[in-house]
Amino acid sequence: MTEWILPANRSYRAYDALRDLQTIEWGQNAKLRDAAVGDIAYIYECDPVKAIRWKCRITAVNRTVCVIDDSAYSDDPVEYTGPHLEMEAVYAYPFYRQLSLEALRKHGYKGSMQGPCQVSSYRGLAGYLHKVEKIQTSEPGLAGLAAQASLLELRELAGKHSLACPTARAVRARQYVRSPLVAEYAKKRADGKCELCGQPAPFLDRYGRPYLEAHHVQWLSRGGGDTAANTAALCPNCHRKMHVVQDPGDVFALRRKLENE
Ligand SMILES: [Zn+2]
Ligand SMILES: [Zn+2]
Repeated sequence: MTEWILPANRSYRAYDALRDLQTIEWGQNAKLRDAAVGDIAYIYECDPVKAIRWKCRITAVNRTVCVIDDSAYSDDPVEYTGPHLEMEAVYAYPFYRQLSLEALRKHGYKGSMQGPCQVSSYRGLAGYLHKVEKIQTSEPGLAGLAAQASLLELRELAGKHSLACPTARAVRARQYVRSPLVAEYAKKRADGKCELCGQPAPFLDRYGRPYLEAHHVQWLSRGGGDTAANTAALCPNCHRKMHVVQDPGDVFALRRKLENE
């Protein structure tokens, strides 16, 4: 499997074409003679982007008749008449500045983006590309990058990567069977006040009862029991805080409070 960098023609809006069509065709000039199905293609865009924004996989080579109409993305009516290869979009890099010409140069690239080249021609470049992909395709990596980004950058990214119709994703999660009686008991015991901060429940539920949430002091996923002694009734604020911060002082205070259960 070979990895290629393919600089997009200035007159071709490669980013939009890949986003909208997912599969595009690409002139297969002499430099791409050895391209094969399964090869990876990093699409580089010139001014003003000057970065790789898409990773693609080559799905067909030596095609003599074009079957995909991407004329809406091209300002240049002159058709390349040689063979074409076909590729499908694999991944759009949200933080493509990590793959700017400058960044690529810093990590081994020595060319001038004047035509297709093989990533392996430049020492260290493949390792860098793979590292960036690993960061940008993992949730913690992406969250870390987002945390460092500026408000303007995030505004642009959020717009580009927002989904009008989010796709559902199946999640496998372990669910613990818990007794509604234990939860109900804890809420009765709390008598309308949060067992951590002591404040009254912030609102009443639709039946007019103070709204509190049952929380397991030692999480069920960590071996805690669904028992009255391990279940506290908390206001939504404190409950969220327990899960986000898990402050040892809070845990201690709840344990103290429940120890005589
Ligand atoms: Zn509270
Ligand atoms: Zn909880």
